[in-house]
Amino acid sequence: MGDIVFWTLIRLAISIPLAWVLKDYLDYPIWWISIVIILYGFVVYPAIISYKKFEEKNKNLFESSLCSSCRHFDKSAVLCIKYDKHPTLDYIPCEGMDWEPKTFETE
Ligand code: SF4
Repeated sequence: MGDIVFWTLIRLAISIPLAWVLKDYLDYPIWWISIVIILYGFVVYPAIISYKKFEEKNKNLFESSLCSSCRHFDKSAVLCIKYDKHPTLDYIPCEGMDWEPKTFETE
């Protein structure tokens, strides 16, 4: 997830100067439309696609692993916070010994 945020910020950092430069070459109404198209096509849409790929890649882990129901599991980073390791379907860092159910407050 962190790399999705990182690359989204990089694309945004590239888009802003580009938009600034385009301001001198385009009429104002066309410039606004260009900004919207650039932001959606170069920043927002790739972030959405990346997030969908992230969810698809980790779908089984989120739905059917022991860690997904544990309070120490951080879904956004696919990380066991207690052990600071990334669980997989085949690898549970604590081997189930430190599993604690999620409460309503932690969900
Ligand atoms: S404590 Fe154990 S069960 Fe809970 S997230 Fe970490 S490795 Fe998974």
